[in-house]
Amino acid sequence: MAKILSGTELSNAMRAEIAEEAARFQQQTGVKPGLATVLVGDDPASQVYVRMKGRAAEAAGFHSRSIVLPGDAPHERLIGVVDGLNADPEIHGILVQLPLPKQIRASEVLLRIDPAKDVDAFHPMNMGRLASGARDVLEPCTPAGIVELLLRNGYDPAGKRVVIVGRSNIVGRPLALLLLRTGRGGDATVTVAHSRTPDLAAVTREADILVAAAGRAELIRRDMVKPGAIVIDVGVNRIDDPASEKGYRLVGDVAFDEVEEIAEAITPVPGGVGPMTITMLLRNTLEAARRLTARGTEGQTAAGPHG
Ligand code: NAD
Repeated sequence: MAKILSGTELSNAMRAEIAEEAARFQQQTGVKPGLATVLVGDDPASQVYVRMKGRAAEAAGFHSRSIVLPGDAPHERLIGVVDGLNADPEIHGILVQLPLPKQIRASEVLLRIDPAKDVDAFHPMNMGRLASGARDVLEPCTPAGIVELLLRNGYDPAGKRVVIVGRSNIVGRPLALLLLRTGRGGDATVTVAHSRTPDLAAVTREADILVAAAGRAELIRRDMVKPGAIVIDVGVNRIDDPASEKGYRLVGDVAFDEVEEIAEAITPVPGGVGPMTITMLLRNTLEAARRLTARGTEGQTAAGPHG
């Protein structure tokens, strides 16, 4: 039976570390890390995600602000909100919850966020720097959470063959970029498979570390996994389940019961990658607060005695 890689446990430990660091940072600088979440509309899943992020920020001792706009809010209004947050010294991290309603041009909104406050790391500047191998960059939360989950369980991806199923801008593509960097959490040999990959099983069977991020319930079966592989399941899929109270249950992209029998280690759904994503958002917010504060201090020094 595989070792279960609990993102919940690791997240609890990391969030405690982050809370301590934030308290120390505040003592030293007088600055409380601040996260603003922006939600447009009333999509129930997005409401849950935003609430979870706000609560996690508060629990870590951060300043947390939640902004909710109606679902028919015009594009310009959201841009105005982002501009306000960019200029607000209390806010170090800005998270605009996706997906956005149709009247809003999402890519323009993401471009508008100050890259220094872009704690989701979806801004083309941050994505581009990551693609060029930079290490001093805010890292996209879900991919960074996956790398952390591997490292802290003793599974260093360096030199390993990693296969990622999925090439989205949120998970698969940036995860490949993280794993390709040199140094901590990188140096892997990375293959990215996607919906146009023929004979997916032949590709996934090559993996020492297999990451499933396709959004297809139980796509990865036992015969697609090399015995002894590390399996990271990013997928969150609702499937009908008349026996459950809600009428549905959540499953990953991996057929857990089958794959657990042959994998070395596997993440559960829920309780695997999900909690790590929010933990990385907190880490990014603290990091952004540190950098913005250092920048402000440098600015004062530069303008000080020498004018
Ligand atoms: P997406 O729909 O944007 O991308 C899915 C990718 O999978 C695409 O690149 C597509 O080419 C590939 N794909 C789809 N079907 C495939 C198939 N049959 N074979 C091979 N490749 C296939 O999805 P996303 O935003 O990357 O999310 C993927 C999954 O991860 C979803 O279930 C989502 O809910 C979940 N997710 C979880 C977290 C978390 O924190 N736990 C965060 C983000 C996404």
